[in-house]
Amino acid sequence: MKIVIFSGAGVSKESGIDTYRDEGGIWERYDQNKVCTLPAAFDHRQESFKFFNECLAHFKDAKPNAAHLAAAALQEKLGKDVVTIITQNVDMLFEQAGCEEVVHLHGHLDGYLCHDCNVKWPREEEEFDPEEKCPDCGDSARVKCDAVMFGENAPEYARLYNIKESLTKDDYLVCIGTSFQVVGAEMLFNHDTFQSPKSININPDGLNPSMAFGINLAVPAAEGFPGVAEQIANEAERNLTASTQTRSRQANRSPGMG
Ligand SMILES: [Zn+2]
Repeated sequence: MKIVIFSGAGVSKESGIDTYRDEGGIWERYDQNKVCTLPAAFDHRQESFKFFNECLAHFKDAKPNAAHLAAAALQEKLGKDVVTIITQNVDMLFEQAGCEEVVHLHGHLDGYLCHDCNVKWPREEEEFDPEEKCPDCGDSARVKCDAVMFGENAPEYARLYNIKESLTKDDYLVCIGTSFQVVGAEMLFNHDTFQSPKSININPDGLNPSMAFGINLAVPAAEGFPGVAEQIANEAERNLTASTQTRSRQANRSPGMG
């Protein structure tokens, strides 16, 4: 049994990260085309890094909420080979909660990328430095923050595809706080998981495509996910006990008896 947790902005909203898209928020003060596209990252680097530094300042006080913590606890209990966490968010709240190997579909704000060398490295300072140099080529001209810009390739989508293809009807697919506007349901569901009772959607807005899920919980992430995580952990424990008993029965059966 595998568990895939797929999350969007709704999971961070309860940690206070949403206002940057609200009225008067960061997005209103910047032209996306001048800060958040690949050409902008290089042609308007000062402005682009300034924008991402404002995002960082906005993220600074955010703390993981009960949903992030429940994901970390589930992963710690069942292992990171069993529990895969995928997020569309560029914050690091899952990592701050203790999650490992989080798949950031759209990158994150915790590092740099040199677009020429395809080299990534962590951001050591509190803010991005527009003059940061690539450790490989020593140049700063093609250095950008490691968030995926509009019009840029997002290599982690290949991983998403592989994960989707590998899921079976025994696996859980739990979506938390996503509107499916960027990553559509067709990118998550395969034949086995479509409308499976183990495909669960947690979203207070009860958004489409709810029909793809077996279970829809119209509650906030921090309210809905801890209970779901507990239920999954209990099932995993029952499965483990059952398989241990089967193995010990097999081991006790002496040859010649059957
Ligand atoms: Zn380089």
